[in-house]
Amino acid sequence: MVINSRMVFIPMKNGDHELTTNWRAGTSSQFESNWSKLHKFAYLNHVDSIQIKTSLCGDEWGLKPHCWGKKTGQLLYPGHFSPRRLISAFRASEDSLKNGWIQSHLSTDHSMSGIHALTLRYCPDCIQQGYHSPLYQMSWITRCPVHDVPLSESCPSCGQFIGLTLTNHDFVTPYGCKCNYLLWPGRDSPVWENALTRPQEELIKDVLT
Ligand SMILES: [Zn+2]
Ligand SMILES: [Zn+2]
Repeated sequence: MVINSRMVFIPMKNGDHELTTNWRAGTSSQFESNWSKLHKFAYLNHVDSIQIKTSLCGDEWGLKPHCWGKKTGQLLYPGHFSPRRLISAFRASEDSLKNGWIQSHLSTDHSMSGIHALTLRYCPDCIQQGYHSPLYQMSWITRCPVHDVPLSESCPSCGQFIGLTLTNHDFVTPYGCKCNYLLWPGRDSPVWENALTRPQEELIKDVLT
């Protein structure tokens, strides 16, 4: 796989732009969090949070960074993202994109009420496969339904919490900790193209739906 130094925008006849990126169909799973997809995207395309904002947010293709508030800045919510651009960038279905936000799995009364974690909770085995589910952010889930191991809440190397915001602070090491520890093997991994197998996905789906 060729790693570009930047994403490439190709002008199309209708005045729109097509985004070409390092990403293949199957790189993400149906119930994978959009935090996971966005960090993979940043890692594989060598882009930072500013470039994500300018290329994947807003209604028109343009270079206008948006203001992200306390709630919209968390990558658990759609915020100012353009669904159309995310679907295009991730080669994902509308359902897969919707399933990737924790908001889709909570009643509105429960949003931001402490019923889910605001820093990363993850399964140490799933994250090695390049997989994180919105399910793991819910406080009542303590073990991974796929691997039956306790969820982790901090970096295995330095012990810090891992933030979920769309800031350069949290994108210093995409799919990793700001201490530079990488949570997945990245492009050296033989399994990143399919984050979870279909039977493993079914286990996540059973809990989420
Ligand atoms: Zn797991
Ligand atoms: Zn760390």
